[in-house]
Amino acid sequence: MQALQGIAVSPGVAIGEAFVMDHEGFRIPHRFVSHDAVDTEWQRLNQAIETASEEIERHQQTVSRELGDEYGAIFGAHRQMLCDGRLRGELETLIRNRHYSPEYAVSRVLKDYAKVFENLESKYLAERAHDIYDIERRLLRILLGQRREEISALTSPVLILAHNLTPSETANLDRKFVRGLVTEIGGASSHTAIMAGALKIPAVVGTGPFMADVSGGDVVIIDGDHGQVILNPDEATLERYQKLAEQHRTFSAALEPLREAPAATRDGVRVQVCANIEFPHEVLHGLPAECDGIGLYRTEFLYLGAENVPTEEDHYQAYSQVLQAMNGKPVVIRTLDLGADKLASIGLRMGPDDEKNPFLGLRSIRLSLRNLSTFRTQLRAVLRASVFGPVKLMFPLISTLNELRQAKMVLADLRDDLTEQGQAFDQALQVGMMVEVPAAALLCERFALEVDFFSIGTNDLIQYTLAVDRGNKDVASLYNAGDPSILKLINDVLQAGQKHNVPVSLCGQMSGSPLFTMLLLGLGLRDFSVTPSAMREIKKVCSSVTLDECRQVATKAMTLDTARDVTRYLQDELRKIVPELAG
Ligand code: PEP
Ligand code: MG
Repeated sequence: MQALQGIAVSPGVAIGEAFVMDHEGFRIPHRFVSHDAVDTEWQRLNQAIETASEEIERHQQTVSRELGDEYGAIFGAHRQMLCDGRLRGELETLIRNRHYSPEYAVSRVLKDYAKVFENLESKYLAERAHDIYDIERRLLRILLGQRREEISALTSPVLILAHNLTPSETANLDRKFVRGLVTEIGGASSHTAIMAGALKIPAVVGTGPFMADVSGGDVVIIDGDHGQVILNPDEATLERYQKLAEQHRTFSAALEPLREAPAATRDGVRVQVCANIEFPHEVLHGLPAECDGIGLYRTEFLYLGAENVPTEEDHYQAYSQVLQAMNGKPVVIRTLDLGADKLASIGLRMGPDDEKNPFLGLRSIRLSLRNLSTFRTQLRAVLRASVFGPVKLMFPLISTLNELRQAKMVLADLRDDLTEQGQAFDQALQVGMMVEVPAAALLCERFALEVDFFSIGTNDLIQYTLAVDRGNKDVASLYNAGDPSILKLINDVLQAGQKHNVPVSLCGQMSGSPLFTMLLLGLGLRDFSVTPSAMREIKKVCSSVTLDECRQVATKAMTLDTARDVTRYLQDELRKIVPELAG
């Protein structure tokens, strides 16, 4: 048994079989074989070793011919390792005595070998671990052959364990069977975290390396409340977590009556709880009845899941589908928030590909304003779809008034075009912006004069205010929504909104965390846009407090000096009203 500590990004407890996604996405489907099958399985492994050895020999010859013998010798060493008698002996013992499947035995033994190398002082020898992984992959590829499974086409429930998931890999996950996610890297607001929330599955990111310690088929526990991951748990631990998972189910069932109920405080103040979505199909399964609208539709996921660059028709179809399903409830469509980080993973070249700081680079509205034809395509589709329901158009990452004005000008042009062409669209379409760059938060009073609404994006606001990469586990402890600087900026935007009669919503991950609900209500927020999985919990906190109580909590929290003090204080207050959510 081995425990890993990471960052808890999506709550709940998941227990199940690991699908280990290394670079080639191998999965070991069966851990054990029956007693009768042992001889055949052992032979199958010998055959695979034979094939691998022949493959390596061919590589050795090619490389020696083209690059020289000293390079070919690398493969010679691989062959030696592969055919080593001790290795074979260990594999045979595991298959014959413990009835392990050849795939599982290979994965276990070679990972153990690799770990020994990785821990060696000598850098040269430590690097040899890569060779061992190479041999492992080669053998697995041969053994699994046609039986390899893809994460987009699973056949049974799994927990995905990966070094990292690119946004497009996350977008293509097979939703039916993925029950939990763990990644070695990533931070609280990484896209893996956001997707896990959308999938309503427990997730932990930023655990540090575990690839050498886990094989496909191993039993794994993901504790998405505390950021813990347990590999190969012992009986007692398994039992403890099974109980915890049961408690979760019971609490979740107790929240069921809130599913379709409108949110309100105990003293009857109505609170809007909208949903954040990434894909149109999210509105198909009951969501419209559970929320007051879509507070953030991240349209860039249309690109991340697609094989080709989406056309105006693709955009139009997606938006129409969402608006029709929402049946009159408002939908905030955010224009593309693509950046170098996401573009690279889908092989799209819209901006420079050598940015040193993609988060400070040509992303989001900046990219849209540089690629006007793409921007216009999207805006035309939004305008055309606006006949199906109340659309609010939102620009992301606005940092200067100039950017906002430019974006609005492009929109105004298109409105004229459509009018000329006799195309119908909602003339009263509202236009707002994300407040997620400190510059915009600092100048919110001026921005308030030029927009119909604000939506505070705390995921980026925290990153840019505290200078902490939101996806980097090594600085994750500095990334904290409770930091006094963040509370001050949120408060300023809420005040400016009130003063200028501009509605303010909050759509960053913070708004889906019950820890901050009282504070935000106390500061004056009445419009939350949250990951669908968090909606009932936010409604629960709202219904358990009065506005006066919330104001007291907010007043006190605003006097505290550090994020740690704020978090502790809020945890204590939450424990008093809904202990199950206080962690
Ligand atoms: C945010 O930054 O808070 C936000 C909601 O946008 P995204 O997470 O898509 O950057
Ligand atoms: Mg953002």
